[in-house]
Amino acid sequence: MGEGSTRRVVVLGASMGGLLAARVLADRYAEVLLVDRDEVTGVSGYRPGVPHGRHAHGLVARGYQILESQFPGLTDDLRAAGVVPGDFSGDIRWYVDGQRMLPSRSGLVSVPATRPVLEHAVRNRVQAIPNVRVLERHDIVGLVTTPDRARVIGARVQRRAEDSREEVLDADLVVDATGRGSRTPAWLAALGYQRPAEDRVKIDLAYTTRHFRLPEDPFGSDLAIIPAATPTSPRGAFFYRVPGDGGVVELTLTGILGDYPPADPEGFLAFVRSLPVPDIYRAVQDAEPVDDAVTFRFPASVRRRYERLTRFPAGLLVMGDAVCSFNPIYAQGMTAAALGSLVLAEHLRHGEPQPVAFFRDLARQLDSPWDFSGGADLGYAGVEGKRTAKIRFANAYVARLQRAATRDARLTDAFIRVAGLIDPPSSLMRPATMLRVLRHGRPRATNHTPARPGQLLGGRS
Ligand SMILES: Cc1cc2nc3c(=O)[nH]c(=O)nc-3n(C[C@H](O)[C@H](O)[C@H](O)COP(=O)(O)OP(=O)(O)OC[C@H]3O[C@@H](n4cnc5c(N)ncnc54)[C@H](O)[C@@H]3O)c2cc1C
Repeated sequence: MGEGSTRRVVVLGASMGGLLAARVLADRYAEVLLVDRDEVTGVSGYRPGVPHGRHAHGLVARGYQILESQFPGLTDDLRAAGVVPGDFSGDIRWYVDGQRMLPSRSGLVSVPATRPVLEHAVRNRVQAIPNVRVLERHDIVGLVTTPDRARVIGARVQRRAEDSREEVLDADLVVDATGRGSRTPAWLAALGYQRPAEDRVKIDLAYTTRHFRLPEDPFGSDLAIIPAATPTSPRGAFFYRVPGDGGVVELTLTGILGDYPPADPEGFLAFVRSLPVPDIYRAVQDAEPVDDAVTFRFPASVRRRYERLTRFPAGLLVMGDAVCSFNPIYAQGMTAAALGSLVLAEHLRHGEPQPVAFFRDLARQLDSPWDFSGGADLGYAGVEGKRTAKIRFANAYVARLQRAATRDARLTDAFIRVAGLIDPPSSLMRPATMLRVLRHGRPRATNHTPARPGQLLGGRS
């Protein structure tokens, strides 16, 4: 491999996972061909292949760092698209249980782009790489293998047009980045391999999003207002300006365990009103909606345990949501995809990646965010799963730390660094941090009344 190589890699899916994979593959393969069913070139708005793209998407700090290092100057591209970068702690109003975590200068950069704007900026960069090509409006139908099924040697695709026929794209390597609905488990079974085991955390979550044009700007110098969902205030929201669209804001409401935010105008506003922070209701109650609300349901976080398989065809890798699809309220998915691209880059240094070794290293990167979000989900009494003493302690401690962060900005920083996948969760247990939590984390009377009887889904257990 390397320069002068004639080898080709086919990447299935041209969304965040596929784009980030393509970026590092282009350093090692002569040709990188991204395939997607959607039209993607130049598209900066919503597209059907990524229905979740209509809802709030934050890039946590580690994800931002990786993107900026893989695409130097990406922040400037985002600025040109109207995105105003700021500080993750100091410029965002984070609320837990109705109280604002004290802001500070964390030095961690937030780029509050909508998902289509971010993806468009990344795609522009990837498409500018000379040996990357995109095959759009093509359905991915299946894999092609050697007769003994030991190696994947291509993919079958079909153009989305009447009278089109299946075509075969030959490949030295195929990377599946088709997202949560990936067919690789079924393809493996059809080829005589085992499917990966799946870990699931059922959360029965829904996002409902609507855009408004506001008569007055409620943000001031801040970038966003985020009442985070917690077990004691399980309704959450993400509220921020749409970049480059003067006066238009995106408001995503989140509800867990079947408490879906309604999409009808009255129900939507009633849900906004029930949030433990009044600022958002005040801002949108008389604002002009610019579209209808749309809902996305997310029944469960899913992790496919490819690393546990001992037999796997050569020439095939799986990345992004196709491997692990996280509860979106923790905003980890795109960053996990970015971390996966770094694992891929490392394996490519030694030649063609060996799937089993690759999946094991990828799993090590996914363990921490998976444990973080899965453990936090178990703080909701209605989420099924085993609550070990460690998980119970961690959830009680984080609740106390968040409370303490409403009085101590250093703790906001510590928390944002862990949630941003910069520091490991164990960093919250440093003695100095624990002392601050003990000192500042005593309960105080909150000034909000929960939305409605039955909304409280249980405290942290
Ligand atoms: C409601 C919601 C909110 C989220 N918020 C955040 C957030 O705030 N921060 C964050 O980091 N992450 C968030 N995520 C997660 C994030 O969206 C995903 O982690 C990310 O999109 C994964 O990218 P991917 O490329 O792996 O998959 P996807 O984005 O799902 O892309 C898959 C691609 O494959 C294509 N494709 C699929 N099947 C075929 C086929 N058969 N033929 C041709 N093309 C095909 C699709 O068109 C699409 O382009 C959120 C997810 C949801 C559901």
